[in-house]
Amino acid sequence: ETFDVTNIGVHLKAKEFNQILEDPNTIVVDFRNHYESEIGHFKGAITPDVETFRESLPIINEQLKDFKEDKNLVMYCTGGIRCEKASAYFKHQGFKNVFQLEGGIINYAKQIKEENIESKFIGKNFVFDHRLGERITDDIVSQCHQCGKPCDNHTNCLNDGCHLLFIQCDDCKAAMENCCSTECLEITHLPLAEQVKLRRGKQVGNKVFRKGKSENLKFKHSGELSDKPLAVANKTNDIRQKIKVKKVLLGKAEHYYVKAQVGLFVIENQELNVGDKILISGPTTGNEELVLEKMLVNGIENSVAKIGDKITFEVPFRVRLSDKLFKIIG
Ligand SMILES: [Zn+2]
Ligand SMILES: [Zn+2]
Repeated sequence: ETFDVTNIGVHLKAKEFNQILEDPNTIVVDFRNHYESEIGHFKGAITPDVETFRESLPIINEQLKDFKEDKNLVMYCTGGIRCEKASAYFKHQGFKNVFQLEGGIINYAKQIKEENIESKFIGKNFVFDHRLGERITDDIVSQCHQCGKPCDNHTNCLNDGCHLLFIQCDDCKAAMENCCSTECLEITHLPLAEQVKLRRGKQVGNKVFRKGKSENLKFKHSGELSDKPLAVANKTNDIRQKIKVKKVLLGKAEHYYVKAQVGLFVIENQELNVGDKILISGPTTGNEELVLEKMLVNGIENSVAKIGDKITFEVPFRVRLSDKLFKIIG
């Protein structure tokens, strides 16, 4: 209401956008949210660590306040709508040279294909449909939030009371049954009536696209992002699958001893008994099943381990710190 929203920046098509990015006098800003820029962005772009578009406006205004007269402020978003508002805002704030990508990344992707021009956008364009992302280049620039492996597939936590948006690789998807944390995994194993009871009266904190941040996600990146591709996407590997196995997560690896082939695990859930069939699963280890014959519980041989106990037992393979311990049921 306080400024002219029709006084917008200069619209640029893909070719012109590429040209202005080459200009050393250009500052390019991504006006999307952190979970969008994480899986793909223009090379050299400023990617504000924000959850809403509105939040990024004063941050950028402050960050670029000394460049209002002489730099090109170039902006982009998914479909071009957000930039219409942002460019009017920045012109009102006194920026002299304001430009925006016409039709956003969606239109840019079309044009570079049709006109066969180089993509200065790397990775995936986040979109709000079931795919949660459209690949623009084969570069994978983000990591699985759980194991750190190069990955740019977003998913929502299977626990309906959580529904956190996060990046999960196929191995972690299998091991964690599409959940964001051991807590959520445990909840999904409860009868539905109990799950509903747990949710009652509580705000669904991580609902769909709102947040996408959790302390459980060790490899989540936002704010300053790297332009270096971590891997090349495997074209045939796009078939997503849900794996349902009858198993319950007990805990995770704390330490391993290379020579003795002994694994140290901490029990975080339920209990473990000698004679149980167990599964040790992780991105490098794969899935190793064995029957527990003997274990040390907090340093002493025992036949049962409960929550909080540290257990060690012999394994015929190498255990990694990213490995998880499951009990196989039935
Ligand atoms: Zn992973
Ligand atoms: Zn969750």
